[in-house]
Amino acid sequence: MWSWVSECVGMSRTKRIYMDHAAGRPVDPRVLKAMLPYIKSVYGNPSSPHSFGQETKQAIEVARTKVAELINAEREESIIFTSGATESNNLAIKGVAYRNKDQGTHLIMSGVEHMSVLNPCKFLTTRGFKATSIPVDQYGFVNLTNLEEELTSETTLVSIMYGNGEIGTIQPVKEISQMVHGKNAYLHVDATAANGQVPIDVREEGIDLLTTSSNDMYGPRGVGALYVRKGVRLGPVTHGGGQEWGLRSGTENLPGIVGFGKAAEIAAEEMPTESKRLEKLRDRLIKGLLDPVPHSFLNGHPTKRLPNNVAVRYSFIEGESILLDLDARGVAASSGSACTAKTLEPSHVLRGIGLKHEEAHGSVLFTLGKQNTEEEVSYVIRIMPEIVKRLREMSPLTPKELME
Ligand code: PMP
Repeated sequence: MWSWVSECVGMSRTKRIYMDHAAGRPVDPRVLKAMLPYIKSVYGNPSSPHSFGQETKQAIEVARTKVAELINAEREESIIFTSGATESNNLAIKGVAYRNKDQGTHLIMSGVEHMSVLNPCKFLTTRGFKATSIPVDQYGFVNLTNLEEELTSETTLVSIMYGNGEIGTIQPVKEISQMVHGKNAYLHVDATAANGQVPIDVREEGIDLLTTSSNDMYGPRGVGALYVRKGVRLGPVTHGGGQEWGLRSGTENLPGIVGFGKAAEIAAEEMPTESKRLEKLRDRLIKGLLDPVPHSFLNGHPTKRLPNNVAVRYSFIEGESILLDLDARGVAASSGSACTAKTLEPSHVLRGIGLKHEEAHGSVLFTLGKQNTEEEVSYVIRIMPEIVKRLREMSPLTPKELME
């Protein structure tokens, strides 16, 4: 499968192993092929009534159907194309909050949401809304008792992510939706990290709004979608020419949307086999990273986790140093969300599951993808104990008896 990546990004066949798929994924060559005509030769504006416009409108509608099918949305019109997960989250949260202000001004989200959920909620508190953050347990599951206590007749929206990209934990979405609907609020689910990896059924699971992103399923960047169940009161955040039923104005990202549609189609076809393959690799990697090393732990839940997520931590050393050592040996991993990697603060997700500052700092995140192989997993398993041993030898925090 190496050729798959090298073909895409034109790099040499040197020893480089990419295990940071939560931060970014290569575009599937089949997606690229589907997009190319819409970059090179098909360019009409989908809003134009002439044949050039109708041709691209039709291509967008095909893509919309594919994205809708992947999550079993009731109709294509439920899919609003956006520029990505951040915009979809902003549209869901601000769009529901403002539109339903007459019903209430209270929002709820979990404490381990992505910043693109937390920050819109925080922003809304400066505009007369109240936002409540629900704690999670040691595995990252939302505390349902707490959620029930916080839901009031003033609550209009609850935002909970489907699967957490940093610790892998998959939430009991159906249970949450029943609780939320019991109080007549809407449930928004950020499924950026999960959609395309695990089967999602918005109707069966009672999801009112769902965020999804193209690159997280090997589609191009710069395109995402918000699923909006029929009947949900949602207002626009972007005002302009009225595209996407007035909910997201702006000329459509034609090649991006076509690519997203193709990526969703491939994900639907390949998910059953690919997710099983990834789960096997995931579990082997977790075992191989933890078993030979004392004082090592898994972040998140052992089984209710995303198929590609391997989040571990080692006591007494810094995850950042582990990453540098891994990189020097050709392996790309992450210390957590790439979006907050610039700050030295430990991730709010790791703090949210109760890790102390120093425990959170010893974390390393591997997110697997299509091109990862058994051989690559074997290589990482082989080098990790050496890396940890060397760093522990240098760390003043390592207890003496551990090194004897
Ligand atoms: N939500 C989740 C769960 C994410 O993991 C991410 C990052 N991939 C985002 C939202 C934001 O995605 P983007 O930066 O592509 O808008």
